[in-house]
Amino acid sequence: MKKKRIAILGSTGSIGVNALKVIAAHPDRFEVVLLAAHNSVNLIRSQIRQYAPKFVAMASVHLPQLKKDHSRVKFFDAQRDLPELVSRADIDVVVIAMTGAAALEPFLAAVRAGKKVAPANKEALVMAGDILMEAARRSGSVIVPVDSEQSAIFQCLEGRNTQDLHQIHLTASGGALRCLPRMKHDQVSVKDILAHPRWKMGAKITVDSATLMNKGFEVIEAQRLFGVGVDKINVLIHPEAIIHSMVEFIDGSIIAQLGVTDMRLPIQYALTYPERLPMPLKRLDLVQLKALTFEAPDLKKFPSLKLAYAAARQAGTAPTVLNAADEIAVEAFLKGKIKFTGIHSVVERTLSKHVNVPRPGLLDIKYADGWARQKAQEIVERVS
Ligand code: MG
Repeated sequence: MKKKRIAILGSTGSIGVNALKVIAAHPDRFEVVLLAAHNSVNLIRSQIRQYAPKFVAMASVHLPQLKKDHSRVKFFDAQRDLPELVSRADIDVVVIAMTGAAALEPFLAAVRAGKKVAPANKEALVMAGDILMEAARRSGSVIVPVDSEQSAIFQCLEGRNTQDLHQIHLTASGGALRCLPRMKHDQVSVKDILAHPRWKMGAKITVDSATLMNKGFEVIEAQRLFGVGVDKINVLIHPEAIIHSMVEFIDGSIIAQLGVTDMRLPIQYALTYPERLPMPLKRLDLVQLKALTFEAPDLKKFPSLKLAYAAARQAGTAPTVLNAADEIAVEAFLKGKIKFTGIHSVVERTLSKHVNVPRPGLLDIKYADGWARQKAQEIVERVS
């Protein structure tokens, strides 16, 4: 069988590392062609030794030394060369595991080149989901999401008619503050937040899980990925995080995807789709589970989710502004410049100053992104 040739953008982050573990478990099925990372030089060196990629892209400052030490690898500048690299004919699947808006251009290039794309990155879909999906329709590119909830929805919808869809139940573990009363939210410290109960993740996404903004981004992602109106996407708090999302059809039938909380599961599915392969993970023990519980999200306690729904309904450049302002606000919170509750106010105030551009092109999106970052920064400086 011909091996699938894989590119991993963001190979040194947690999704990238897990994707490489999946690949290492099936050496007869996959081959690593391209690895891209930003600054983690030591980790990329060990990945080069273990996976022998043909191409590696890194931030330009690291290139001279890397070139000297690994003469069999061709090195590229990650900032400049990724769009061209992912379009190469010798790449079948592109895993977008890098975070941030920088993923947008390589993501779009991979889609335009008709690749199978496995995105874990949220920002690109939130900012430019319509442009990406339209490009995929034109090129025939298949997008199989890696994010656990989107993967669940994808699996539940597989082979079914979206016309028969009544609603999507997007599940959320509830984040670090699920049980804390609203009045106490402005006393919450960075340390409190980073002790997240269910998934091991980076600091930004852990804060976004605590505000439920992460779920808000996922509402927008799902809206784009599955072409579903935002009012058909219902967020459901499910603290056990066993059901990764559900799909409810017009006849009242609900299909759910369950699994252990391990990212290797959705990553492997994205790489092998439409096939499945065995996975050497501890399996879900349904008898041990005892109970699965659900509750509606409290929008007064988690106003960021409400903001995200509003931005999703507005569409245009509003989701871009939501994403950019949130990034600045979370960074300010992590640096101790603003309170936890300040994250929401910074995003809300930035959105209220924004003049929305309907049906934006890529340039409108980039402009709105830059504008929102600057505006949010101004608001942070004023309140801190
Ligand atoms: Mg998720």
